[in-house]
Amino acid sequence: MTTLQQLNNFELDKVHRKINEEYNKFKAMGIQFNMARGKPAPEQLALAEQLLNLPGSGNYMASDGADCRNYGGERGLPEARELMSALVGAPPENTLVEGNSSLALMHDYLVFSLLRGNSDSLLPWSQEEKIRFLCPVPGYDYHFNMTEEYGIEMCPVSLDADGPDMDQVEELVAEDSSIKGMWCVPKYSNPTGTIYSDSVIKRLASMTTAAPDFRLFWDNAYAVHHLTEKRITIANILDACESAGHPNRALVFASTSKVTFPGGGIAAFASSTDNLQWFLEKIGKRSIVPDRINQLRHMALLPDEQALHALMDAHRQIIDPKFEAVHAAFDRWLTDPTVANWTRPKGGYFISLHTPKGCARRAVELAEKAGVTMTPAGAAFPYGNDPEDSHLRIAPTFLSMEEIEQAAEGIALSIRLAVSEKART
Ligand code: PLP
Repeated sequence: MTTLQQLNNFELDKVHRKINEEYNKFKAMGIQFNMARGKPAPEQLALAEQLLNLPGSGNYMASDGADCRNYGGERGLPEARELMSALVGAPPENTLVEGNSSLALMHDYLVFSLLRGNSDSLLPWSQEEKIRFLCPVPGYDYHFNMTEEYGIEMCPVSLDADGPDMDQVEELVAEDSSIKGMWCVPKYSNPTGTIYSDSVIKRLASMTTAAPDFRLFWDNAYAVHHLTEKRITIANILDACESAGHPNRALVFASTSKVTFPGGGIAAFASSTDNLQWFLEKIGKRSIVPDRINQLRHMALLPDEQALHALMDAHRQIIDPKFEAVHAAFDRWLTDPTVANWTRPKGGYFISLHTPKGCARRAVELAEKAGVTMTPAGAAFPYGNDPEDSHLRIAPTFLSMEEIEQAAEGIALSIRLAVSEKART
């Protein structure tokens, strides 16, 4: 299909005049929407409303008879570990349920490694001359902010349709012992919706790394966040690492932030017995027990995996039409001639869009002027630097159906205008 840049000057002028007119009409409506972050909508939060009344007075006993009002049980409730083991793909004995944020657990693991070195390190990471992390791009900005904060050099690797470019990854980790870690969102990646293939997972588990203490930070944030009826499963990274003779390589994280309440959910960490022991020793210095009352409350709402999937189906029914509304607006304005390419994810919280080179920042600026705040261009790249200035992250979940229809129209018009402006220069 013809791209907008392939049009001749006459056609381009015509397209430009028309899109300018449409954009100005949209701008004149004076709307104000914020789509910067992938937040659940109020109707989604309402699905877990009962949590506010749970576990209820008198309900403080765990399944093993522990009194959750008191100290005890550093690994979390047995029933919570059982439930979360489904999200992290580990047996409950290798699953720790701790705190309210998976990002906080990633942060802890990283900072403890910097201060002390992990269970395979020869030195604390902070005492190494330089340390680096591989960052599949586009990726999750909070991961990149965290590594940047601690002076860890970020090395972008491209994220293909089936996961990171493994030829590139294998070569880098085999040669460079300063590469200590890699950020991975293996299923319904933020923001591309990528699902890592079995072959990519196998290669990540079995590749030779120059650093003996290399770790995969396996962020399973969207493990059960399907957008289709098919509950897609991927190969189990912990099993793959174990079979490849690298049992300590993978650190798996998940939470119920986008199942129940962000910030009011429960988080989990799973890994080898050695890693878990090491991590428990370290977190044992900063707190005595996790919030088991919150775990109890979650278990009352989600007693088993079936209840979890039923809740996620209800989430899907709310958000899937919003994704469809964005696709419809993009189909209307960004095809024929082709203006941009975007993903149609099977799960997760985002649509990832690529404009021609040098148009993303301008599109965000135009959208802002028309009343739609988007994720800043470049946010999905280390140091906020998208070398092509072509990537945009769209977060359809938070706005109401009516709002998302309008906002998607505004975004599509802004992208079309930005690309047409660029084509005329
Ligand atoms: N990881 C990814 C990939 C995310 O997209 C998010 C939230 O957007 C998080 C982690 C945050 O998780 P938590 O709320 O458990 O810290």
